[in-house]
Amino acid sequence: MIKSKGYAAKDSASALEYMEFERRELGANDVLIDILYSGICHSDIHQVHNEWGGTHYPIVPGHEIVGKITAVGTAVNKFKIGDLAGVGCMVASCGNCENCKSDQQQFCLEKKTVWTYNSVDVMHDHSVTFGGYSNNIVADANFVLHVPESLDIKKVAPLLCAGITTYSPLKRWNVGKGHHVGVLGLGGLGHMAVKIAVAMGAQVTMISHSPKKKNDATLLGAHHFLNTNDAQELEKYKASFDFIIDTVSVPHDYNLYLGLLKTRGVHICVGIPAAPMEINGRSIMGGNKILTASSIGGIQETQDMLNFCAEHNILPETELIDIDYVNEAYQRVLDSDVKYRFVIDMASIEK
Ligand code: NAP
Ligand code: ZN
Repeated sequence: MIKSKGYAAKDSASALEYMEFERRELGANDVLIDILYSGICHSDIHQVHNEWGGTHYPIVPGHEIVGKITAVGTAVNKFKIGDLAGVGCMVASCGNCENCKSDQQQFCLEKKTVWTYNSVDVMHDHSVTFGGYSNNIVADANFVLHVPESLDIKKVAPLLCAGITTYSPLKRWNVGKGHHVGVLGLGGLGHMAVKIAVAMGAQVTMISHSPKKKNDATLLGAHHFLNTNDAQELEKYKASFDFIIDTVSVPHDYNLYLGLLKTRGVHICVGIPAAPMEINGRSIMGGNKILTASSIGGIQETQDMLNFCAEHNILPETELIDIDYVNEAYQRVLDSDVKYRFVIDMASIEK
């Protein structure tokens, strides 16, 4: 077994604290990665607090991982020792079903998607996976990404979840020149959505309940800012968006935002509030609106996103922290006080 050091929560009410644990041995198709940086996603917080149900404790979160390859299995050609590597939300899947074969491993029809943490590893030893708030990780090389050398390694980790989760639906819906895109919620996902939609050529309006973020939205590239506390401004934006990408992490009024869409406009949910959505049928019928959602992205698509970000020089805005600051960082994410993604410097686990 491979020895690991990480930060874990013992139950839904506990703070994260130092824990030593073991990972499975490297198989022929696997790589071992020394983790350099790990991003903090709001999904980590939802799962640590068991807001979606089914959390296995202790839980070591983290699915925005970059590091260096330190060992490769005998059948691995894709990487060599010393390569930069990234891991996102998945570390294995069946590989044979229609969805796995069409780069939708997150929807493996055999139900064998192995999530990076808090997931029973049905493709290997049936242990529960531990994530990236740790010094190393073992993953199937087919689920590991090449990190372009031109991207600042200290900032790149959040692309592995926040980046792909926003890139994937924008790409799927062919968002580009001539489209007006609203990005709802300026946090980790929201700020990536702004940067990527702008790079794709869209007109972008940041839709936020935090007026203090207006200046930052402009710096990120947003063309307009809609303060959702201002009824008059909301009125002005009625029937004006082709797309809204909704990154809000708490329950909110979907009917209100459906009213901001043009006829046949598309509301794309990527935020995952713990409570069910309440939708009034008339909110989608009037104007033949489309209400849809999107879950991360496939592995090849994640590589495409990394290459797209390298080409357009897109990186998240990050605050680099030591691992012992993780609990304060969680509170700041919950308080909407993150600019705009925390990244843990994993070297700090040795302190
Ligand atoms: P985050 O950094 O906390 O951003 C969420 C944003 O939601 C906040 O910055 C805030 O923006 C807005 N918000 C927060 N509280 C609010 C409130 N009370 N009322 C209205 N707006 C509020 O979170 P994140 O990491 O971007 O993740 C966002 C959501 O996406 C989470 O639910 C996460 O689990 C989910 N997620 C989904 C996928 C997927 O595959 N679909 C992948 C990753 C994450 P403003 O201050 O600008 O209003
Ligand atoms: Zn995430």
